Amino acid sequence: MAGTGHPMSMSMPNRAMSMLPNPFSSFSRQHRQADDKTFNLCEHLETQPIDPQATSPFYNGRIPAEIRTLIFQYALTGSPAPHAKQFTHDPHVRYDHEPVPVLDDLLPISQPFRKTSYLVTERGFHNDECRQVGEGFDWLRPDNTRPVVDHYNLLLTCRRVYLETHSLPLQQKEFVFYCIRGNDPDAAYYTGDPQSYLAQRLSRPAPGILPGGQPGEPRKQQRDLYPRQVRLLTQQYWLEDTHHYLQNSTSWHRYPYFMADDAGMSNSKMWWAPLRHLRITLRRSDWWDWERNRALKISPYRRSVRDQAQMALDMGRTMAWSEMMAERRRKRAVGEVAQPDDSCAGVQEDQLGLFEPDSWGLAFREMTNLRTLTIDFETAEDKKGEMDKIVEWAVMWRFPLAPGHKPSELSTATAEGGKDAGDTGEQYKRYLCAGGRPVEKMSWRGNKAYWSMRCTTCPKGQREANAACPGCRERQRLTDNGLGPRLYVWTVKWTAMRADE
Ligand SMILES: [Zn+2]
Repeated sequence: MAGTGHPMSMSMPNRAMSMLPNPFSSFSRQHRQADDKTFNLCEHLETQPIDPQATSPFYNGRIPAEIRTLIFQYALTGSPAPHAKQFTHDPHVRYDHEPVPVLDDLLPISQPFRKTSYLVTERGFHNDECRQVGEGFDWLRPDNTRPVVDHYNLLLTCRRVYLETHSLPLQQKEFVFYCIRGNDPDAAYYTGDPQSYLAQRLSRPAPGILPGGQPGEPRKQQRDLYPRQVRLLTQQYWLEDTHHYLQNSTSWHRYPYFMADDAGMSNSKMWWAPLRHLRITLRRSDWWDWERNRALKISPYRRSVRDQAQMALDMGRTMAWSEMMAERRRKRAVGEVAQPDDSCAGVQEDQLGLFEPDSWGLAFREMTNLRTLTIDFETAEDKKGEMDKIVEWAVMWRFPLAPGHKPSELSTATAEGGKDAGDTGEQYKRYLCAGGRPVEKMSWRGNKAYWSMRCTTCPKGQREANAACPGCRERQRLTDNGLGPRLYVWTVKWTAMRADE
């Protein structure tokens, strides 16, 4: 891989690493073929003499090991590049949902009202200059600045440090995927599509031997070289119906190298098995028909929810489930046993019965080591009430997970510390639950790209801006200054729980 002349992308650990002056490269050239996929630098170094670095304060006891770890983690943490994209306006970020009016005296441009047309084609809308990748659409956010520079120089200092820290960059990095939309600010290969990225960029960790394994036993790929944290900036269609990537996990693991190393499909989901933390960000522009400012709709219980009526039906199902759970808790508290004809007798703590078989909310079962799921729900100010209702409902969602069980070969190799705490050897139900945690709130001012094709104040069906409408006038005043609506984000975090039924 090294020296093939590809432009370097700082978001790609393997590639970026290959561009650094590599003290091991002379060894590499002499002792292995370029296509030797079995070479394992760690294994190699472990067979070499290792200087204990007894004169270094990191290793002679002056700096405690916990502090050393923190310093090393910090040294290997990415940071925004000097040329990272900046906002051209003040996004005025707040960590609450208080309204922030834009005062007249902050807006230098004041033009006479114009009869601009709202009725453009969707293509024209998306071809607008303000909605191009280079303008930051739709990836530049208060919490997503690109590019990020990864720092690997610490790995080059000595063998002892390398062996101690080589897996940290992958383990502590949050990998961001834009999921087919093609708006990848890193201009990197494949990050639009997790499947291809993992196959093409991260699928060649050197094979290692399973923990406790003896040389000569079947070799598996190094488990510590898989991503642990992933963020998906994804349109709803990617989650749901059109591509249903999340739900259809078979489309996630077409990995030629992988299949060559691991016989059988049972292990082919391992790229996602080590994932600990998944974050899904549904931006203002990710919701169905945001261009036409249609009402928001989502339901984890379906492959794709048809309309608001169907969403309301699903909300009702969650409420009914909640009442049955409360009834069961009440019975248990007073020592009553639910009878088969009680409504609460068959209630499932993980809500499994509420999900259609191919709903996107069941996809997390494939991620057998998932600890947390975070979803950001974002919309514009005029839809704040709609989203409030959705988020009130979302905190009640539970996502079934694969059952916990006695560590198998796979989970031994991938679970932190080798085992799940409290493992009894029996199977037990697990699910993701947001219960009790407050919803985090954030708000910021988007640029003019975040206006929909409709005025939200005018009666429906208007074709052009109307001077008599305060919404139209305000929108034009902001747009003339490059500004868009204020955007509100609700962040809900679910944590893996063990069912007590
Ligand atoms: Zn209007």
